[in-house]
Amino acid sequence: EIVDFNQFLNRIIDRFEMTHKDDVEFVRNIPPTPIFTEIAMDKMGQVLDNVISNAIKYSNNDYKKVEFHVKQNRLYNRMTVQIKDNGLGIPASKVDRIFERFYRVDKGRARKMGGTGLGLAISKEIVEVHDGRIWANSVENKGTTIFINLPCETLEEDDWDV
Ligand code: ATP
Ligand code: MG
Repeated sequence: EIVDFNQFLNRIIDRFEMTHKDDVEFVRNIPPTPIFTEIAMDKMGQVLDNVISNAIKYSNNDYKKVEFHVKQNRLYNRMTVQIKDNGLGIPASKVDRIFERFYRVDKGRARKMGGTGLGLAISKEIVEVHDGRIWANSVENKGTTIFINLPCETLEEDDWDV
């Protein structure tokens, strides 16, 4: 269905905010104007749930911060959402592997944390079904940013009839 991605994302962040009132600061850099995207809300919700959960999970910071940044590229009818954390980060040699099935950066640590190591592999499949791309930037001991680029609709405003 066609939804306003910004509203969709804000609602997901609201949910996380309710359960992480005391241990995570959420920073929203999300435009006030809608960005219309055609997405399966349950599937894309699963992607964002996993990415945001990871941002919170892979951090031993007392002061956890997750920053959201949404930007539209009107020229190409694409949009990018960035989800940035200040957590453990990922060594440069391993960052591209996190999208592989069952891949976990630190096996011992991962075992304690629970989960299966499938979250990002599934997320990648879902994003690609939407004609999107997902990738990561990370600096060890500093944090990780996940980027998701998706198609979006052109503005169907009355720009032309002046
Ligand atoms: P699941 O999502 O199935 O519960 P998982 O979180 O271990 O398990 P993925 O979400 O696929 O699996 O992530 C794969 C691995 O990538 C993680 O085990 C972790 O090592 C690393 N990783 C993912 N996101 C981050 C992040 N924000 N910061 C640091 N490491 C991360
Ligand atoms: Mg995960």
